[in-house]
Amino acid sequence: MSENCLFCKITKGEIPSYKVYEDEEVFAFRDINPQAPVHVLIIPKKHIGGLNTTSEEDERILGNIQIIASKIAKQFTEMKDGFRLVNNCGADGGQTVFHIHYHLLGGRVFGWPPG
Ligand code: IMP
Repeated sequence: MSENCLFCKITKGEIPSYKVYEDEEVFAFRDINPQAPVHVLIIPKKHIGGLNTTSEEDERILGNIQIIASKIAKQFTEMKDGFRLVNNCGADGGQTVFHIHYHLLGGRVFGWPPG
């Protein structure tokens, strides 16, 4: 837990969220400002600032998040034909909350390249 980290507070229940998944290491909840009909944020409970501050000890948990994303997607009919999993890293990557998180987006067709 990192003091004053919004997402650490959400995992602890100190700030309310619309939870969609939880296990010992991972927490997932609805984004407060959805960019698609389904927009879920998947985070490790452990405070990691971003993908640029990870170490090898995070390999298992970050890999597991992809499997969990796939499981969550199966819960939503909106994502039966596909979805997008996104990590924004650092200021240039569009990261605004510095606790690593993966955006699971679905329910519409996405374009490429991203904006
Ligand atoms: P980033 O821009 O990749 O760092 O994404 C941060 C995301 O966190 C944005 O999509 C925000 O809408 C979302 N967000 C910020 N505060 C909250 C909150 O309190 N609950 C849920 N989502 C949040």
